[in-house]
Amino acid sequence: MGNRFVKERQKMTEGNKVELYLKDVFERECAYKIEQEEVEFIQTGIETIVQRIADKILDNNTLQGSMKVKFEKYFTGIVKRSPKNVFGVGSFYEGTRNNFPDEFDFILTLFCCEGTFEEYKQFLLEASVFNTVSDTFSQKVKELSEVDTNALIYTASDPKSQRKLYFSEYLRQHGPATWLRFIYESESNRKKEIDVDYVAALHITNRDVLNRVVNELCVLTEFAQETLSVGTCFCIGANFSLTQTEVRIMRTILSENHRKIYRILKYLINGHGDVDKLNNLGRFDKPYSSYMIKTVMIYHHYNCKTLGSVNLGPCILDVLDDLCRYENTSEFPSLYKVDYRTKIRCDLCLLTSLRSLTDYLRSMERLSGSSYDYERDKIKESISKKYLDTLDK
Ligand SMILES: [Zn+2]
Repeated sequence: MGNRFVKERQKMTEGNKVELYLKDVFERECAYKIEQEEVEFIQTGIETIVQRIADKILDNNTLQGSMKVKFEKYFTGIVKRSPKNVFGVGSFYEGTRNNFPDEFDFILTLFCCEGTFEEYKQFLLEASVFNTVSDTFSQKVKELSEVDTNALIYTASDPKSQRKLYFSEYLRQHGPATWLRFIYESESNRKKEIDVDYVAALHITNRDVLNRVVNELCVLTEFAQETLSVGTCFCIGANFSLTQTEVRIMRTILSENHRKIYRILKYLINGHGDVDKLNNLGRFDKPYSSYMIKTVMIYHHYNCKTLGSVNLGPCILDVLDDLCRYENTSEFPSLYKVDYRTKIRCDLCLLTSLRSLTDYLRSMERLSGSSYDYERDKIKESISKKYLDTLDK
């Protein structure tokens, strides 16, 4: 019996070099290297401080009143405080963050406005009001960091524990978003920067408005259905936002394997932050953002031919083939009928390297796993990094 099992396993690994490789990439480069308990400390700490900041701002009557006036002129119904006002979104909450939980995205809902779909549309056209609100908001965070520093520190409930989290600096503001930096200190005094992105929003809970938003926005029927199950959406900057639906799909609808594939692809394409360096060059052609990879991944999930398979290879190659189909951003698929992200036509600068990556993985799929060696066979750097290096030359 035992012998047969060993032979079976040998047969499996020998035939699947790409499976062994992808499994290794995931474990070495994507999975968190810290204990679950430490992840929970960081998550609770960040959420506690973020909620404290939100409360300080939203409990301030003068501030609340001055913000409310700005919104009230757009809506005939009541503008009231949202009962829940902090929502975790982005890769951490999607369960797709790689390596370390060092980036948290939140939506801060200032108000719930009773209004019609038309009123919301009109509001969006003139939504620069968010920018002024964000100015006020950023100003308050700055004040808080100077005046009430205790509000911005989180320590472990066990007094023997050395772990702590604290506010470090205000980074920048961009439209409705405010970026803050925190420091996490581990038991062994290892320090790690943690970035927090706050986006001010309106919370839409009205069913009629939500139905209209879904009809106007969603391309995929499945995505529309998930949005209706979530039951709410946001109004951010000049757009309706269904980011909560994205969290739900990535976290609970996508299969475990698909979530892994998405994380592996993010790493192989963009490494740990290589794409940020590429973006910072401000070039007109564009790399692949996590968001673009995610979009293709969601489409793949709903069209997957091998759902439930234990192998990663066939799916990752399918997704890569899909990604390789597009030469510029205007051809690129979107989850939304109107998507400001893909409106401007920009060439995709990593297409050639992406095709090479696909060919490399495909060649691995044909090779026997018995000759596999991670250090020798691994792709040494992300394709973003490779492209950056060619620009330097
Ligand atoms: Zn699949």
